[in-house]
Amino acid sequence: MTVSIDKFIKEPKIAYFSMEIGVRSDMLTYSGGLGVLAGDTIKSTADLNLPVVAVTILTKKGYFKQELDIYGRQSELPDEWDPNSFMTPLKERVIVNIEGREVQIGAWLYVVESMRGSKIPIIFLDTDFPENAPEDRGITHHLYGGDQTYRLKQEIVLGIGGFRILDELGFEIKKYHMNEGHSSLLTVELLQSHKRDIEEVWDERLVWDAEKVRSLCVFTTHTPVAAGHDKFPYDLVQRVLSDSLPLDVLKEFAGHENLNLTMLALNLSNYINGVAKKHGEVSKGMFPGYEIHAITNGVHSFTWTCDPLKRLYDKYLPGWANEPEIFVRIGRIPDYELWEAHMEAKRHFIDYVNRETQSDMNYDTFTIGFARRATAYKRADLLFTDVERLIRMGEGRLQIVYAGKAHPKDEEGKRLIQRIFEIKDRLKDKIKIAFLKNYNMDIALKLVSGVDIWLNTPLRPLEASGTSGMKATHNGVPNFSVLDGWWIEGHIEGYTGWAIGPSPDVPADPARDADDLYYKLETIIIPTFYGDKHTWIRIMQNAIGKNAYYFNSHRMMRRYVTEAYIR
Ligand SMILES: *Cc1c(COP(=O)(O)O)cnc(C)c1O
Repeated sequence: MTVSIDKFIKEPKIAYFSMEIGVRSDMLTYSGGLGVLAGDTIKSTADLNLPVVAVTILTKKGYFKQELDIYGRQSELPDEWDPNSFMTPLKERVIVNIEGREVQIGAWLYVVESMRGSKIPIIFLDTDFPENAPEDRGITHHLYGGDQTYRLKQEIVLGIGGFRILDELGFEIKKYHMNEGHSSLLTVELLQSHKRDIEEVWDERLVWDAEKVRSLCVFTTHTPVAAGHDKFPYDLVQRVLSDSLPLDVLKEFAGHENLNLTMLALNLSNYINGVAKKHGEVSKGMFPGYEIHAITNGVHSFTWTCDPLKRLYDKYLPGWANEPEIFVRIGRIPDYELWEAHMEAKRHFIDYVNRETQSDMNYDTFTIGFARRATAYKRADLLFTDVERLIRMGEGRLQIVYAGKAHPKDEEGKRLIQRIFEIKDRLKDKIKIAFLKNYNMDIALKLVSGVDIWLNTPLRPLEASGTSGMKATHNGVPNFSVLDGWWIEGHIEGYTGWAIGPSPDVPADPARDADDLYYKLETIIIPTFYGDKHTWIRIMQNAIGKNAYYFNSHRMMRRYVTEAYIR
């Protein structure tokens, strides 16, 4: 495969930087929500023909392959893939100084092509060259691997290396969009390349044109979880990041105690946003003094719709993939055809689950889906708060499919998977439960289209947005979720789906969440599914016509353009 970069450098671009970009399941350059969102973003920019170039890390050894023993104990294996089968190596290299060594950074070109033929380049950064020291060759191997030092080196490669390579390749950049703080060291490069030309400097600080840099930068923050914001002690920074700003200048922008990549991005961007309205509010509380906007996430409609529903939409709503607003006419699809398309997807999915897990599930039983990173705040085990109660309402009437990886260092997340396995074995004659290992984009599409309801139980307000529920709505699968993230905006009780727990303006109440979950399942959701198909199909229609209609990445990107990029 040979593709040339030349045709991409003709017009000024918006550079979209992200530590992970997931464009396809078998290109292992993502771990979860952030990466998949970045991939959906780039696909929409291609469909909308926007002038964008994306920059990320190659991660040749992926995130990890999840192995689970019969007790659900997770171990992590390397997950290698071959970039040569997807992308083209470019000859250009740049050098960045790391720990006093000159590290060569190269690039691979991957092209995202829309159905109408417009193309968006993604630059994948790579340090795995024989010219580099062995330890430097590994910097771009593992996504979210290694220790703090490794992480900082990766972020140097992404922010500084990425900035330099765009320049080396001949790109003219009119905006830099930092998708999360990982890439914010690019602002250091921007400060250095926009120094004021002052003859006699009586105050050294005057040479740094922060205002100019801000006018070029957009920053999207993605999580209210503290661990999501990278901080590095300055002694580490001084050892690793050799060619940077004078320390006092760096501290002024990135924080005095630590190098805080979120602070750096906040201080040097003139458009900052959270990823749902509520998350924008929460971020304002976390970062007082900054003007923080909100652009609610969306998913790429074509990517996240299963084949049976694609065929149905093509028949009744032609043009839907390039114009998801057309979902507003969902009422044109006859009930029985919508149900039949759903059942086709469900049968396909149940067959898959049974093949993978020998769990003997059946097509007609009400099926709950739950898949996301296994980590404490997502509370994958909320459904097991009162197992006896679950059995009473669900015996023979309910089956549940789980998936999700725990970060290798997240012990609590790993215990959650074991707990699911424990309950799965305990309930096997009463309620069938399956756990699909190696959650990835392929499995995600099967899951969100093959279950009857999509469950989400995060501890408020820690779910910034959540996007898997949006994928479910594209397949007519309603959400049953805690009112956090996007669901606050998408939820109309009993109409687009159901809420778990109190309204978002009263304090979180974990005990009440479980009670509400059981109460609604038992008295409303399961009875409606089995006893009132007409109402059930209405809710499926509303999931599409009210939720997928809005929570798609085409709408999201139009908003980034009008609110962030052309300001
Ligand atoms: C969509 C997706 C996610 C993100 O889902 P959330 O609901 O935001 O947790 C994570 N992993 C994969 C593989 C996905 O496709």
